[in-house]
Amino acid sequence: MSERRIGFIGTGIMGAPLVGHLLRGGCRVTVHSRTRAKAEPLLVQGATWADTPAGAAAEIDVLFVMVTDTPDVEQVLFGENGAAAVLPRGTVVVDLSTISPSGTRSIAARLAEQGVDFLDAPVTGGDVGARNATLTILVGGRAEAFDRVRPLLEQLGRRIVHVGPSGAGQALKACNQVLCAVNLMGVCEALLLARSAGIAPEVLIDALSAGAGGSWALANYGPRMAAGDMAPGFMVKLQQKDLRIVQEAGQAAGVVMPATALAQQMFRSVEARPGGGELGTQAMITAYRHLCGNGDEQPTRPSHRT
Ligand code: NAP
Repeated sequence: MSERRIGFIGTGIMGAPLVGHLLRGGCRVTVHSRTRAKAEPLLVQGATWADTPAGAAAEIDVLFVMVTDTPDVEQVLFGENGAAAVLPRGTVVVDLSTISPSGTRSIAARLAEQGVDFLDAPVTGGDVGARNATLTILVGGRAEAFDRVRPLLEQLGRRIVHVGPSGAGQALKACNQVLCAVNLMGVCEALLLARSAGIAPEVLIDALSAGAGGSWALANYGPRMAAGDMAPGFMVKLQQKDLRIVQEAGQAAGVVMPATALAQQMFRSVEARPGGGELGTQAMITAYRHLCGNGDEQPTRPSHRT
């Protein structure tokens, strides 16, 4: 395939390993990110640094964006030294970030005026999926543009789904975030209940992961909760950003989501503590522990023999 010259903006937890896969796949990759230090290991692997988004978008076939939120995507494209100013007709921009579906459609319409395709391509599978190139990628936008970049997406993920027109990938990602957030509450509650019954978290995870109660969250976040490892992963503040997108979409469509709202409140409790927003989402367990009156300690069971 010809799409070998790649620009990549945003080399954080998710972006950095994805750039590594593209480099190992034989692509020439120019990277830009707000904090250059996070891109340094990629420069050792062969990526080229650009000081601005426009610099990362010069003389490329495909531009990947993996930043934080809707305003960030708008900024790297249309802000000062933004990429859009230098993108030639026929370029495809692939936005791997999780942003709002309506914001996505606006960006796509704006870029379409200059003959540039904008595909929303949010991912799921976590930091583990990014490192192992096992992500699921949910794509919205023109089928012709999707077909062109599909071989590149296959270097980054295992399951690549063209969902529909612009914004459809982000709309489905919002659904995914509902599943993740609500499922995580179940994982926390099950682990606490097991503990109160004298069952170690490792036993629960091992015994139940392959059954009907098993989930990605249980298999991946359960062990981190058990070990007290709250490093991100997926930061609480990013999950809250996603749940805001979810609630906006739900409100606009009249869909009632009380379980999602409850998950938001649990994450808000984590965020309320210093540094809480930067913890991984598995830190929801700490909010539950406070509710159980045990602070950072594992709850102990009031004896069922009494
Ligand atoms: P992250 O580690 O914070 O990475 C985002 C990167 O984008 C950071 O390096 C950040 O720079 C850079 N950035 C943000 N705004 C920028 C701007 N205006 N100009 C230049 N660079 C900018 O977050 P992440 O976990 O990789 O998540 C990235 C996206 O993927 C988010 O939309 C998130 O919701 C989504 N996502 C994450 C996961 C996960 O498990 N982590 C899973 C699925 C989807 P700084 O380093 O200076 O902050």
